[in-house]
Amino acid sequence: MVALVSEGIQSLSVYEPGKPVEELARELGISNAVKLASNENPLGPSPLAVEAIRGALGELHRYPDAANYRLKQRLSEHLRVDPGEILTGNGSNEILEVLVRTFCTPGDHLVFADPSFVVYRMVALAHGVLFTAVPLDAEARHDLSGMLRAVTDRTRVVFVANPNNPTGTHVDRSALDDFLRRVPPDVLVVVDEAYFEYADAEDYPDTLQMRACRERLATVRTFSKAYGLAALRVGYAVLPAELCDYANRVRAPFNVNGLAQVAATAALDDTEHLRASRALNGRERARVSAALQGLGLGVAPSQANFVFVDVARPGRQVYEALLKRGVIVRPMGQSSALRITIGLEEENDRMLEELAAVLG
Ligand SMILES: *Cc1c(COP(=O)(O)O)cnc(C)c1O
Repeated sequence: MVALVSEGIQSLSVYEPGKPVEELARELGISNAVKLASNENPLGPSPLAVEAIRGALGELHRYPDAANYRLKQRLSEHLRVDPGEILTGNGSNEILEVLVRTFCTPGDHLVFADPSFVVYRMVALAHGVLFTAVPLDAEARHDLSGMLRAVTDRTRVVFVANPNNPTGTHVDRSALDDFLRRVPPDVLVVVDEAYFEYADAEDYPDTLQMRACRERLATVRTFSKAYGLAALRVGYAVLPAELCDYANRVRAPFNVNGLAQVAATAALDDTEHLRASRALNGRERARVSAALQGLGLGVAPSQANFVFVDVARPGRQVYEALLKRGVIVRPMGQSSALRITIGLEEENDRMLEELAAVLG
């Protein structure tokens, strides 16, 4: 029979999410597990967002606003960009996919880093788009000159995750500025700033301030991380209005659900929740990184809400051992690395204690 799917799709496997606490409880009977596997906000959702959702429940029978007018207005004030330059999506995941579907046809080419966010590769394989995954440098940072060299005349999109997932490392302002000016003007550079709100380094670049560097630039952000709304699935991109208009033709008509629209709008006003989330993460990220180094482990300098740790033995074994002790982290394939989300102080203490026990 004729294959119904492409080789790219055949080579894909189902995205493996961090194990939910309920699943661990079911499988191993562990009741007090801590989940530090999916970079979720340990403080929970913004209370203002929760209240906004309660107020919107009576409208569940209505289709949501397809244009997402109010959220875009609010984002436009918040970011000081034109509402016509804002694309919203069902998580930034959908945004990344829509950008590829809009701007690439099969046989075109993408460039991204390796390891970086797995969705770039998934989307390329699903849509028959070729790609070059450029290894990170010795400091686990994006090799921007290597990525520049990987650009061909078929390259349509380059992804830069800043800070990078899974390493938490960042590219600094001058390196990114230089890169944005050097990438050929035809290419769309997508800077994925999912952890923007957590980054606090002096030299961490805000690409919304760098739009003069090149025309074809998209900044992608999300409400899933610092805003604590991962379950609702809402993300956005800022890009030139003309490109935004094309992407709006490709996305699903009601891609951001009604509860997500009101919650995200309310979350933008909750400056206290954001402040507390940032402060906790900044404090605990420094403490956890130092404690892991104290265990003799290599830790990449992180600007995100997770750390990338080299446990110097098969990471999967350490992951399994931690699972049995009720601590869920993220293994990184067959490597010796683990990605560990920064949780509440007591969750981090528990993780550090169990990890020390596992490593002996
Ligand atoms: C978590 C994450 C996203 C966000 O995903 P959502 O679909 O918005 O939940 C995007 N990019 C990176 C690099 C991430 O780590």
